[in-house]
Amino acid sequence: MRVEHMAETWSESGPEVVLHQVRLRATQPGPKVVLCANVHGDETVGTGAVLLLIEILKSTLMRGTVTVFPSINPRGLLERTRPFGANGQDLNRVFPGDDSGTPASRYVAWVWQRIKAASPTAVLDLHADSYDAVPYVIVDRPVSHSGQAKTRISEQMAAIAGATGAVVLHDYAERDYVRFGLDRSLAGACVNRLGVPALTLECGPRGALAPAAERQTAQTVLRVLAHLGCVAEQPAAAPVSAGPWRRRSGPRVRHEGLLRPLVRPGVEYSRGVVLARIRALSGEILEELRAAHPGLLVAWANESWIRPGQSVATVASRE
Ligand SMILES: [Zn+2]
Repeated sequence: MRVEHMAETWSESGPEVVLHQVRLRATQPGPKVVLCANVHGDETVGTGAVLLLIEILKSTLMRGTVTVFPSINPRGLLERTRPFGANGQDLNRVFPGDDSGTPASRYVAWVWQRIKAASPTAVLDLHADSYDAVPYVIVDRPVSHSGQAKTRISEQMAAIAGATGAVVLHDYAERDYVRFGLDRSLAGACVNRLGVPALTLECGPRGALAPAAERQTAQTVLRVLAHLGCVAEQPAAAPVSAGPWRRRSGPRVRHEGLLRPLVRPGVEYSRGVVLARIRALSGEILEELRAAHPGLLVAWANESWIRPGQSVATVASRE
C-alpha cells in the first residue's frame, strides 16, 4: 500500500485556492476510483467521510487505486458558501470548465485536468442535502451517448447505484436534465464527457459535520468499493423503498411561513396526501401542501421559514 498526498495552488483570481489530493494505491492492480467531496462549499459531510475513509482504506484496500479530493471547493468551504465564494458560480454547473470562461469555469477546467489525470474507472461525488433526508444517490442521464455505449454506461451506473444500498433516484427527465445544466455537474460531466460511470451521493445535513451521517457516507462508499472488488465485502444496508425512482421537485408554496413537515423522509405516499402545512406566526394554517402524484419523500427543505414559490421538498416518483 502506498499513500501519496499532493497540495496544489490555484491563484489566478482572488485569494489562493489549495486543492488537496490523496492517492491510495494497493499492491494489487484494480479499478481506479475517484472520490470527490465539498464541490458545494457548505456541504462538509462528504469531506469528513473521505478523511475517515483514508484512514480505513490504509489497512483495507486490497486492489486498485482510490484518489480522494477532500474539498473540490476550498474557497466555498472557507466562506461557508455553496458556490465558489460568496459571489461565485455553482461549480457543479460548470464542469468540465473552460480555460477562457469565468473564474469559476477556469478553476473547474484546472480541477478537471486533475480528475482526468487519475484515469478514473468510477467517480463518486459526495454531497449533503438537508437535516431531514434519506441518503440517496442520483444517477445522471447519459444524454451524450447513444446505442450500445448508452446501454453500457447505464448498466454500469445502475450496478454501482444498487451497491450503495441508498435510495436510487434517476435524475430529471432528459430535457429538464440538460435545461438545469446537470450534464455540467461533476458527475454529469464524468458520465457525458469521459464516458465514466459516476454518481452523486447525497447524505446528511448541510452546514455541519454530523458524525452519524459522516459514518453512513463512509459505509456507503465502502459498499461501492466492495462491489468493485477494491475492499472485502461489507455489511448490507437497511432495506429502502425499491425504485426505480425519478427525482422531482416537491410542491411549491404560495405563502411565506413556517414549514411543518407531516411525512417522514423514506416514506411512500399516495396522491392527495397532505405532505406539509405552512403556518403563519399567528398559528393560522396558510396552506396545506398535497401530493400531486404518488411518490417517495426524499428530503425536506433545509429551511424552516419558506418563501413564496419555494419548493419545500425533494420527492421522487416511479420512473
Ligand atoms: Zn451539493
